[in-house]
Amino acid sequence: MANELHITLPDGSTRVLPAGATARDLAAQIGPGLAKAAIAARVNGEVRDLDRPLPDGVSVSILTDKDPQALDVLRHSAAHVLATAVRQLFPKAGIGFGPPIEDGFYYDFEVERPFGPEDLEAIENKMAEVAKADHPFVREEVSREEAKRRFKDDPLKLERIDDLGANEVISVYTDGPFVDLCRGPHVASTGKVKHFKLLHGAGAYWRGDERRQMLQRIYGTAWFTKDDLDAYLRRLEEARKRDHRVIGKALDLFSIQEDVGPGLIFWHPKGAMINFQLRRFIEDVILARGYQLVYTPHVTREQLFLRSGHLPLYAENQFPPMAAGEGESEEVKYRVKPMNCPMHILVYASQQRSYRDLPIRLAEIANVYRNERSGTLHGMLRVRGLSMDDAHIFLREDQITDEIFALLDIVDLVLGKTFGLAYRLDLATRPLKKLGDDQMWDVAERGLEDALKRRGLTYRIDHGGGAFYGPKIDVKFNDAIGREWQGATIQLDYELPERFKLEYTGTDNTAHRPVMIHRAIYGTLERFVGFLIEHFAGAFPLWLAPEQVRVLPISDGQLEAARRVAETLTQAGLRVHLDDRNDTLNYRVRDGELMKVPYLAVVGQREADNGTVAVRARGAGKKQEVLPVGDFVERLRQEVHTRSLTPLV
Ligand SMILES: [Zn+2]
Ligand SMILES: [Zn+2]
Repeated sequence: MANELHITLPDGSTRVLPAGATARDLAAQIGPGLAKAAIAARVNGEVRDLDRPLPDGVSVSILTDKDPQALDVLRHSAAHVLATAVRQLFPKAGIGFGPPIEDGFYYDFEVERPFGPEDLEAIENKMAEVAKADHPFVREEVSREEAKRRFKDDPLKLERIDDLGANEVISVYTDGPFVDLCRGPHVASTGKVKHFKLLHGAGAYWRGDERRQMLQRIYGTAWFTKDDLDAYLRRLEEARKRDHRVIGKALDLFSIQEDVGPGLIFWHPKGAMINFQLRRFIEDVILARGYQLVYTPHVTREQLFLRSGHLPLYAENQFPPMAAGEGESEEVKYRVKPMNCPMHILVYASQQRSYRDLPIRLAEIANVYRNERSGTLHGMLRVRGLSMDDAHIFLREDQITDEIFALLDIVDLVLGKTFGLAYRLDLATRPLKKLGDDQMWDVAERGLEDALKRRGLTYRIDHGGGAFYGPKIDVKFNDAIGREWQGATIQLDYELPERFKLEYTGTDNTAHRPVMIHRAIYGTLERFVGFLIEHFAGAFPLWLAPEQVRVLPISDGQLEAARRVAETLTQAGLRVHLDDRNDTLNYRVRDGELMKVPYLAVVGQREADNGTVAVRARGAGKKQEVLPVGDFVERLRQEVHTRSLTPLV
């Protein structure tokens, strides 16, 4: 009947409501508790305002603050509250975009000068007034002409209106004095935005385009409860102390140089030692598991990437072509490689392969280059030059499950057992932009899922998160302060073997096509080391610490004895530094602590006479233990050998 709505609830039951009823009415019908807790509604999968009339025949779930998407709604509303406040204080401010982001929101403004800390304070106070006024968020649908009329003084919004498709519904939201062109949804009123904080300002190009004008972005965070807000601000403070860019500079691990360009990492000796130890570890692990190392070129004729399908699909992430080498046709173009896959494929294809040879596992810790936007680069975590611990495994279809098992073993050994990380797995399925037909994807997705199931692992499905050539298992873990990181990835690929017509001779003596797995355990060394710096706050476990022991003679009288201790430790394969500066012992101890050296070995006259050292372990304060030098060496060797995360001394 036309004057009734039939609504399906998440549990499958149906409700009848009068025509014109809203999700709020539905919530009230279900119960007063839900009506009170309701933030927004999910209508046929799309999140909408609570006060929008419901269409007939839809399924609806009511979002409360327990639903992660409700936070997006709150934060987007907080962004409008921010814009409302900015417009009151800076009436001429142009308004750009104001989306929710992870843990918060931002809004971009076109203003004459950057916002300073005192501006942010004034804006935050004004936001509190806007929230207190409890203006309802009112949604209207308007024609294109009407939208242009309303935003005639806002050139950024006018540009946005021109981009909207002919059939797109144009909606505007008003809260008190502020109107914004916006898809929504929003909370019911500004009063719902209670627990927020403005964090910082930053310049941001309009639409992320370096050729357009610079806008002033204000970042903020918003939460449903004060406890959540406080906990987040504490996490933020902790994260600031662990920032790998700050620690990386303080410990002299790496740099990025203006002369060379953004996103390209210089590994200084101490950072390079960490890099080296990580490489050596993973290479030892995989060489013991049937992998073979290869080294392949960094530049290639671009036709290789046409054949692999990276061009044009991946073109925006690749650096533009460079001209041919001397003596080659001018039509030939070269590219620096963004990935190693086609290179390893050529090694595979360089000879006849039999079913007995498979799996063939080719590994290379290789530098690849990706043309990331300069605005998105971030220290070591987002770079243009990447050192991937890459490998490509060529195998028969019947070997997939065993190989995925073996890969999950390596993941567990490296991330779980060695770094003590609690990780979880995502199965990422076919994306929109993809190669190959759906049938191929069905087989590949089932292959990975079967392996996960048979291993009895729990995992989540990341719909549409796969690589363009195949589905993948992504490994995610949390750091010491609870932030989530993406680590290893295992990708199954039927597409590239097809494109390169790879073959092996089967038991039946005819040619078959192998399957391929792309995998990285650390991901990239840049990102992984960036993670390790923040996770350990610079206090690396002994096996990774660039400087493992610092030997400190109390005075010149013990210099000779200290030198002998340092020599003994060095001979035992440990990384030692003798601090024989003329500064006081207290000063030198403090410096060793600041540099996060795992062990300080102090040599006084008594130690010099007895062949001992007074050992201070990092983090143990003034506590020290006097040990014969030989015992000290043995314990350190043991700690390195077991890659212990905690001191054995
Ligand atoms: Zn909006
Ligand atoms: Zn690959």
